[in-house]
Amino acid sequence: MLLGGTAPDGGLWMPATWPELSAGEVRALAGLSYEETAQSVLRPFVEGVFNEDALREILADAYTGFSIPERVALRSLGRDRWLLELHHGPTLAFKDLAMQVLARMMERALARRGRRAVILGATSGDTGSAAIEAFRGLFGVEIFILFPEGRVSEVQRRQMTTPTDANVHAIAIRGDFDDAQRLVKALFADSEFRKRVELVAVNSINWVRIAVQAVYYFYAALRLGAPARRVAFCVPSGNFGDAFAGYAAGRMGLPVERLLVATNSNDILHRIIDSGRGERCAVTPTSSPSMDIQVASNFERALFEAAGGDGDAVRRQMEESAATGVLALRAGQRSWLGERFASARADEAETRAAMRRAREEHGILVDPHTAVGLHAADSLEVEAPCAILATAHPAKFPSAVKEACGVEPPRPARLRAALAGEERVQVVDADATTIRQIIERRVQS
Ligand SMILES: *Cc1c(COP(=O)(O)O)cnc(C)c1O
Repeated sequence: MLLGGTAPDGGLWMPATWPELSAGEVRALAGLSYEETAQSVLRPFVEGVFNEDALREILADAYTGFSIPERVALRSLGRDRWLLELHHGPTLAFKDLAMQVLARMMERALARRGRRAVILGATSGDTGSAAIEAFRGLFGVEIFILFPEGRVSEVQRRQMTTPTDANVHAIAIRGDFDDAQRLVKALFADSEFRKRVELVAVNSINWVRIAVQAVYYFYAALRLGAPARRVAFCVPSGNFGDAFAGYAAGRMGLPVERLLVATNSNDILHRIIDSGRGERCAVTPTSSPSMDIQVASNFERALFEAAGGDGDAVRRQMEESAATGVLALRAGQRSWLGERFASARADEAETRAAMRRAREEHGILVDPHTAVGLHAADSLEVEAPCAILATAHPAKFPSAVKEACGVEPPRPARLRAALAGEERVQVVDADATTIRQIIERRVQS
């Protein structure tokens, strides 16, 4: 049922009802490994699609490339504050945790149906490299990632251009991220082409990614005393996918005390949650580029929940917001969000200060995205343990770390390999016909 339709596209995976773990089932997660926790949390989502053994194999395979056996790590910051390190995967960002699982699920679903598919995405950095790393070398899948030439960091670019697998196609677009995204939208809108090559998206609204991300909320909370204690999380946010995964964990039975949404100076989410109203502005480039977002695509899911599942009301609200550039919450939505979420922002100076404090007080180097979370967590008053999500490894953002702390983070071995490898990339104009031809040539051969 989950794979119904012509493509294993993200939207098809949205559950009609939320699976819920009983208190006993949550308690039974205590002491389980990361993969075992994932098995228990994801089982109800994939029922009828993957059996227990298949899911176990997918999870075992997905996380072998992580550099620590625990897959994610909790570090104490004192005062019942914890850093939840989610950056031990192959591209050193939390997106690996979901993308590695999603890729293997897709590979199996396609193999079962004897089909091939084309993954197409636009990226401003981390999503593209995590997707390439997850799908490279997989059977039946060609992956094409468009990125704006000269506008992603050297580390991010090299992570996309150095894999040698024949199914990986990194394409630099002469233009900006919006141009790249526009091309992807145009190709998905061409339904004849989409069906013929089985175009599939792996963007941040993909439901599987969100369900898989709910796992680390369970894993961390169990280690911090849940379900006997409620646990709070502070989430550096861009598209609100990660924060929504935390909410999903709560819906599935985890006692989440509160989710603190941390934004950088692109703070529209903070303004909406804090004041009930947010006006869209131009995106300001910051040292935490994966959070430089004005329209958080997953926030619509929260609005839907906050409106009691009234899809029509939310559709009208989104249309109004698209037309006016202002998103205004209804009174009921505002109180619903206020009970579950809080928010805070960090500007560039505050982000640098948080990086310095982490080093001085705890001897830890953190990346700028994580630093936004640390700054936000300082503004939250909760009587519960609080885990701040460390979403990227500091070595991914060496110049920002150096600027704030005066030292460069040591480079993990896998990053050294990416930086040394030969780059393979096509540079093309921002033209949909060109991209379509590149894909067709590859798929027909
Ligand atoms: C993608 C990303 C984020 C934002 O996550 P969302 O799910 O879009 O809110 C934060 N930090 C890093 C390092 C990321 O790559």
